[in-house]
Amino acid sequence: MSSAMLLGHYGVRSMVVEHHRGTAIHPRAAQISQRTMEIFRTVGVEQIVRRKSADQFVQDGAIMGVESLAGKEVAYYIANLNEGIRDLSPCERVFISQSLLEPLLKHRAEELEAELRFATEMTSFEQDATGVTAQIRHRDSGETASVRARYMIAADGAHSRIRERLRIRMLGRGVFSNSITIYFRANLGPLLRGRNLSVIYVINPVLRGFFRIEIPFDSGFLAVTAVGDPEHPNTDVSTGLTEQRCLNLLHAALGVDDIPITIEDVMYWQSAADTAERFRAGNIFLAGDSVHVMPPHGGFGGNTGVQDAQNLAWKLAWVLNGKASPDLLDTYEQERKPVCEFTVEQAYSRYVTRTAPYLASKGFQPVAHDMDVELGYCYDGKLHEHPHESKGRPDTRAPHMWLEDGCSTLDLLGQEYVILAGPDWMGEERFRVHRITHPEFPAAYGISPSGAVLVRPDGFVVWRGETSASPKG
Ligand SMILES: Cc1cc2nc3c(=O)[nH]c(=O)nc-3n(C[C@H](O)[C@H](O)[C@H](O)COP(=O)(O)OP(=O)(O)OC[C@H]3O[C@@H](n4cnc5c(N)ncnc54)[C@H](O)[C@@H]3O)c2cc1C
Repeated sequence: MSSAMLLGHYGVRSMVVEHHRGTAIHPRAAQISQRTMEIFRTVGVEQIVRRKSADQFVQDGAIMGVESLAGKEVAYYIANLNEGIRDLSPCERVFISQSLLEPLLKHRAEELEAELRFATEMTSFEQDATGVTAQIRHRDSGETASVRARYMIAADGAHSRIRERLRIRMLGRGVFSNSITIYFRANLGPLLRGRNLSVIYVINPVLRGFFRIEIPFDSGFLAVTAVGDPEHPNTDVSTGLTEQRCLNLLHAALGVDDIPITIEDVMYWQSAADTAERFRAGNIFLAGDSVHVMPPHGGFGGNTGVQDAQNLAWKLAWVLNGKASPDLLDTYEQERKPVCEFTVEQAYSRYVTRTAPYLASKGFQPVAHDMDVELGYCYDGKLHEHPHESKGRPDTRAPHMWLEDGCSTLDLLGQEYVILAGPDWMGEERFRVHRITHPEFPAAYGISPSGAVLVRPDGFVVWRGETSASPKG
């Protein structure tokens, strides 16, 4: 849906083929990073996402750990979701579940003229030198059709059959838990005791997992990734699961067994940390969970998929509109694969440190600053750095700063290549130029007042001239 929305934004027609009859029914992802919100801002959905998110979750909550919700607190990983990071972006981190977010993206994708086919399965595909032909079938009517497109994006999730057909392997740590999510209703207000908590990790001798609780604190979910002996846990939580077992897990995580609980649904999923060996096969590009699976610890999975879509959409548009040679499309894998591998490992490190210390002996990457992962990922081989450090270096995200008119520097980007120039820049004006007179602009972008940077449509810097010069090529 993000790809369709972004392609529409760049003037490319697309068709989304979705097996389900509508958008997500389960909450799943909820933590939306500043970077994803910046992307949503570019296509005009940031404000509606913010408003809807406030109906569903108390914002600016903590990400922390407990022995049980009623019991002892053991750690605060993030005390307040937006504290100390507001100067990095015009956008804030929010919590909004996929079930509430997807209809907003769907609506915008439709406004931008994407054709959406729900209850429709892609049953097979073939590709040749000039495009892809897919067979699709409506689930209810059984009606079939053949669809021809120049390119196809395989955003068909963790169990991607397109990836399988293309014989692209997933490489990494593999599956380390058959996990479950229990959706339930109960009066949780008294157990929260006025605390503002966005994600509550639970680690105790019965289970390891996490809660997310929605306003008005009478529903939520408990995800469970391991049970039993904390040193030698059973990580197959799903086999032989009964309703009574789910209730026992909820009681242990809540720390009380005397409140009425209704179990609404149980979802089965696998915790894994893998990245695809290739992100492209000819005219087919893979994006989202089809090329990277990671534990939900850190809330990176869905956000990384939106970033894939953003990296790919403008490149497809430039090639389709004849503004760039098809070689530009090779940079999708070159740029995204290393960043995705890094992000997958960072999610795994948070999995180990927050809920699976028994895996520590097998080794894991040191936990990098959240902002390195969420905003500071970069395409120059360095992989990540704190967004305060990059200062407009090529292959990093153009930094945000507020300008005198209340706009962000990021609001000047998004549809075309643009030059952000210091007040004294004398370069050649081949691109749209925004001359920025704010006294702090040159330092924020690592240039002198006569310098400039050239920024791609996805907000990444491609060239920086510290003093008067023009981009070449
Ligand atoms: C408990 C939990 C909590 C999470 N929390 C967060 C979070 O806070 N933040 C975050 O960023 N991420 C989070 N994630 C991860 C996030 O949910 C996923 O990364 C994200 O949903 C992946 O999106 P996707 O579009 O790539 O794949 P999916 O959401 O799996 O979508 C793939 C779609 O393709 C369709 N499909 C597959 N094959 C076909 C076919 N042949 N024809 C037609 N349709 C087909 C499927 O029906 C499906 O709807 C969480 C995950 C879990 C399990």
